[in-house]
Amino acid sequence: MKTCKCSSLAETVEVPMPRDAFVEKFKTIERSNTEWTDLFKCNLCNQFWVVEFGAEMDRRSNFAVKTKCKSLSEFDFLTARAGIESLKHGGLSRDICMFAGCSQQALKGIVFCSKHKL
Ligand SMILES: [Zn+2]
Ligand SMILES: [Zn+2]
Repeated sequence: MKTCKCSSLAETVEVPMPRDAFVEKFKTIERSNTEWTDLFKCNLCNQFWVVEFGAEMDRRSNFAVKTKCKSLSEFDFLTARAGIESLKHGGLSRDICMFAGCSQQALKGIVFCSKHKL
């Protein structure tokens, strides 16, 4: 197959199982064993992706985030994780995080933002 799904996927996506099928057309650029993520480049459209690994061992889903970074050292994990948390919770609430001094929007269904949730 000469087409890929990259352009039709959101910026942040839950990786469908098996993970290997999702990354099948991707070339591994870099792996971080401390952040539990791989940096991939799509062989077909050259889109870069940062994809989590290992979450399935905790019976959780891995998430993938589109990026323009060509190295994991440039990648903003904090912002990416905030996007992932927001996706898991189905979006942001209208309320501000209850954590003292924080002005971020809380995640839907809870009173804290992605940074301050337990
Ligand atoms: Zn692609
Ligand atoms: Zn907060």
